[in-house]
Amino acid sequence: MRIDGACHCGFIAIEGEADPKTTTICHCTDCQTMSGGPFRVSVRVPGASLKMTGQPATYVKTTAASGIPRVQAFCPKCGTAIYATSVGDGVQPFYMVRVGILRQRDKLVPTQQIWLRSARPWVGDIAAVPSSELATAL
Ligand SMILES: [Zn+2]
Ligand SMILES: [Zn+2]
Repeated sequence: MRIDGACHCGFIAIEGEADPKTTTICHCTDCQTMSGGPFRVSVRVPGASLKMTGQPATYVKTTAASGIPRVQAFCPKCGTAIYATSVGDGVQPFYMVRVGILRQRDKLVPTQQIWLRSARPWVGDIAAVPSSELATAL
C-alpha cells in the first residue's frame, strides 16, 4: 500500500510502500515518553521505498527498553515523531513510521501489540471512558 504524510508543520514529508499487516501498537515506556501518550502505533516501511523531503533531527537512545539502540527521527521544527530505525550509515532495511503522520492512518489498523507488560492498566478499557466532541470542564 502506498503511504504518504507529513509532520504537523509540513517541514518533513514522507512517502513509501507499507504492508498494513505490519501495523503495530507499542506499549514500551520509551514510546510512552517520546509520544507523550499511552502507546505508539507504527507501520514498517522498507528503506528502499522510503522517500523524504526535509531533514529530520535524530536521537539515539543507547539504553532503549528493548536493549537495542534505535534511531528516533523527528521534525526539528515542530517535534512531530516521524520514524524509528536501526543504527547505521545510509539507508536502513526498515523504518517504523509513525502512523499518526500518515494520510492512510484509517486503513492502518494494528494487527499486534508489543511490550504489553508496560501498558497503562486502563488502556484496554478506553471505550468505557465517557466521551464527547469537546473538552468538558472537570
Ligand atoms: Zn514539522
Ligand atoms: Zn515502543
